[in-house]
Amino acid sequence: MIYTSLFEKENVSKLCYGTLSLSILQNFDTLENKVNLLNYAYEKGINFLDTAELYDNYNILKEFIKDKDRDKLTLATKSYAYDKKTAEYSVNKALKELNTDYLDVFMLHEQENGNNFLGHYEAVERFMKYKEQGIIKHFGISTHRVQAVRDSIRFKEIEFVFPLFNMKGIGIQDGTIEDMIHAVKNAKENNKFIMAMKIYGGGHLINRPKEAFEFVQNIREVDSIAVGMSTTEEIDANICYLENNELNVNIKNKIRNQKRTLVVEEWCIGCGKCAKKCRQNALHIIDGKCVVDMNKCVLCSYCAGECTDFYIKIV
Ligand code: SF4
Ligand code: SF4
Repeated sequence: MIYTSLFEKENVSKLCYGTLSLSILQNFDTLENKVNLLNYAYEKGINFLDTAELYDNYNILKEFIKDKDRDKLTLATKSYAYDKKTAEYSVNKALKELNTDYLDVFMLHEQENGNNFLGHYEAVERFMKYKEQGIIKHFGISTHRVQAVRDSIRFKEIEFVFPLFNMKGIGIQDGTIEDMIHAVKNAKENNKFIMAMKIYGGGHLINRPKEAFEFVQNIREVDSIAVGMSTTEEIDANICYLENNELNVNIKNKIRNQKRTLVVEEWCIGCGKCAKKCRQNALHIIDGKCVVDMNKCVLCSYCAGECTDFYIKIV
């Protein structure tokens, strides 16, 4: 495993386990199997995990961390808190449901730009008080937008920046991957910790995994890479890519043969742009939401780029 430093904390695995892949939103396996997967990743050296209030999976992480040395783990989470009350709710919920005394990173989820951040400032002030008390170690933002990364340098409170970052720029809402790289470099020069998310473009780059991983790995300003993984083979494969090793052919075949599906997230507004793009006639707007017919879908990903809100994923 390759390790990095998260400010004062050393030996944080560069590969972060993105646990959206274990959330009920994307994964219907048992709690026990999900905890076993996290344990497998931990034995392989992954000690950095990212979650969110939205993922509703603190119970899985609680089971996972209960027999670990907490100080050797790094936990990041996030919420949409916008004022003092919602900030307190989010932090207390995370502490209680994870059964921990502190959170290594707390982020505001899906920030759009500096003005949007200022609109959440009452929550930010409360997070800073938690930081003074040592309950939050570092504060940051997650985002799908270049402008939020650009604007992060205006705020000393933001130490950790978690942008959407993949070789095709899939899901970036306001620019290209080149724009994002430029913004990330600037943020890094301003001492932000950078963690890349959605490096496989929400599953749409899964047929070119090594290339997709290497693309992100080669941007030296990226400190850490969060990847959602749902099988032991995916864990092994991502560690191989990180360490620049050749992937065992059996693992490669298992991943290739893994059953995948297309998921439309519940926040879809039913605009229909994706359905127009689908040549297989697999997408239909029903009751104001996009619905996929998996008998027709060939997982080509052509629809993905149409949804600027990134609500279509292959899992
Ligand atoms: S992945 Fe391809 S076939 Fe499936 S819904 Fe999207 S555009 Fe249609
Ligand atoms: S483009 Fe996105 S928001 Fe519009 S219908 Fe498709 S999934 Fe829903």
